[in-house]
Amino acid sequence: MEDLWRAYYAAIFNPARTNVDLLLQHMPARRWSNLPEAQLIQELAFESGSRERGMIQKKPISAAEFIPEGATLPVLREAVQACRACELWECATQAVFGEGPAGAGIAFVGEQPGDNEDREGRPFVGPAGQLFDMALADAGLSRPEVYVTGAVRHFRFEERGKRRIHKTASRAQVAACQPWLEAELALVRPKVIVCMGNTAVLSVIGRGVRLMEERGTVNPHRSAGGVLITVHPGFLLRMPDEKRKASEYERFVEDIKTARTFAEAQRTPPLPYRLDRASTAK
Ligand code: SF4
Repeated sequence: MEDLWRAYYAAIFNPARTNVDLLLQHMPARRWSNLPEAQLIQELAFESGSRERGMIQKKPISAAEFIPEGATLPVLREAVQACRACELWECATQAVFGEGPAGAGIAFVGEQPGDNEDREGRPFVGPAGQLFDMALADAGLSRPEVYVTGAVRHFRFEERGKRRIHKTASRAQVAACQPWLEAELALVRPKVIVCMGNTAVLSVIGRGVRLMEERGTVNPHRSAGGVLITVHPGFLLRMPDEKRKASEYERFVEDIKTARTFAEAQRTPPLPYRLDRASTAK
């Protein structure tokens, strides 16, 4: 029975609320011989500092504290360079912020900077960006008309020889970086957000989806008009089968046209943008 009690006591011991002076005051040492948990107290109290630090380190990470209040887009662009909310800044050259006019009808959200974007500091400038520009043109749009950004601001990669190979950002890194997207889109106020790929979906909608099943239609979004899911242009680039690549490219262009039609039909400006996951229809 005493073993059971000791196990229970150790399990509920909260190192963050340990005040050794108060403990000694309320439990004078002379009474400790009657307490089955007494032999545990010294050890638990001794470890409380390091256990408390561990608890603090496990707190969810977020970029929110790096975002200046009332910032404009240029201020956000500068501020993101100082973000240390996750470890991705350590190896990247720089953070890559979005580009495009505030008030753009469509905001495209991609994944994270690639090798070219990391070096140049601009979104979608590599091969996937070139394909994206081509698809935009085929959908009757051009880059200066739209806003283009990413779910994660620093390049995640692993080195293989002289090459830096892209690695998908973890859920924790996407969540940490999400406040930048939220702050940015609050200023752009797009009529429709186009999520290109799973990482963008995760950041904007807050859950994974069956992308190929849910792509291509605009779902309501209380604060931003609508959200449309489609593939990432990098996915098209990686397709080995040329025939399939061509047909997937056509679908990608159709998805962009759907977003364009939706944005053009929105007469009233959207409400101030807020990522509201609960209000995003499946
Ligand atoms: S990836 Fe995002 S959250 Fe992580 S350090 Fe860079 S800007 Fe901050």
